[in-house]
Amino acid sequence: MMPEEINNGNGPTEEISNAEHDDKKVAIHEISCSNCGAPLSYIEGEAVITCEYCGTTTMLAGYDNIVTVESHYLLPPKVGRDEAIGIASGWLKKGFYKSKDLPNKVSWKKTEARVLPYWIVRCTGNTRWSGMQKRTKTTGEGKNKTSETYWEPVQGRITDDYTWPVYAREDTSEFWGIRNIEPGKQCVFPDWGKFIFRIGGSKRAPNKDLLEGKMDFSIDELKKLNMQEHIINGQIIQEKAEVSARNRIIELHQQKAEGKATKITDVDTTIDVQGVDLVYVPIWELEYAYKDKNYHILVDASRQEVLSGEAPVGKWAKATVFDIIFLLIAVIFAAIGGTTDGVSWPWIGAGVFGGSAVAYSIWTATMKE
Ligand SMILES: [Zn+2]
Repeated sequence: MMPEEINNGNGPTEEISNAEHDDKKVAIHEISCSNCGAPLSYIEGEAVITCEYCGTTTMLAGYDNIVTVESHYLLPPKVGRDEAIGIASGWLKKGFYKSKDLPNKVSWKKTEARVLPYWIVRCTGNTRWSGMQKRTKTTGEGKNKTSETYWEPVQGRITDDYTWPVYAREDTSEFWGIRNIEPGKQCVFPDWGKFIFRIGGSKRAPNKDLLEGKMDFSIDELKKLNMQEHIINGQIIQEKAEVSARNRIIELHQQKAEGKATKITDVDTTIDVQGVDLVYVPIWELEYAYKDKNYHILVDASRQEVLSGEAPVGKWAKATVFDIIFLLIAVIFAAIGGTTDGVSWPWIGAGVFGGSAVAYSIWTATMKE
């Protein structure tokens, strides 16, 4: 036996080291709110701190540089825990791949309220690009027809307005689902279990304007749903958020330009920033159990919709996918059988695949879900 295997057991050694890790001292600092004087405690590394009494946000922008964030908004929360579960339950029975009575079979476990900080960089990206386009020219007729390729210089501009969101914390994996709600990332995760034909069900996060529906930051709005204690402080200061947005947009325009011509020789992007706002987004993270497995759902407490979620695929969705594939194969065999005389194998194939589809449906009907 290898020495590592001895250490990997469930012995007490591992537990003690985990406990030590959890208790590892995190430096907690304190400043007083510049508006109401209340003590604001924050963890080492946090630099955007919102007072849970008056709602003033203080930013530690470097040594001796403490500023109040003026452009400060909130997407007002409209749902509490129970209503969030209601929204999640509605989502759980929607769509082809989920079982209609799934909400009745899950047990809700953990619920967490969080008010997450985002910087919104309002800006215009302007790109001039130039390059070479490969073209073909055909000359002559009939037998004399020849085509030659040649290069032509091309150029153009790309201009786009953005309200670019930058999550104000370094680690997007510390809370479930944060990474999934970035535009273009996968946000819906069907769990097909052991089923191998995993077709469809997943979804990508839309690109939406986080400032839509905003109001001036109000601690009273958060207090209505008891969310004021769940404000998450930011770690990324405004300047850094702006730099991050600039870099991402430059990257995006570079990619866009590369699709415009065969060969891009020059890309020049300037970003004109109109403003940077801080907006707090209230969310509910819900965890539920289904058949000894845990799944997560993230609900937007302001827009009252599911932002990201995981869900098991229902048995009838699997049966439908299975039957479509197997019946198609059966039809192909039957078609071969119908056009070829004197051979029996296509009919045997059609029978085997068609029979399998029927058998799978019968098995599904008897299976408990
Ligand atoms: Zn205060």
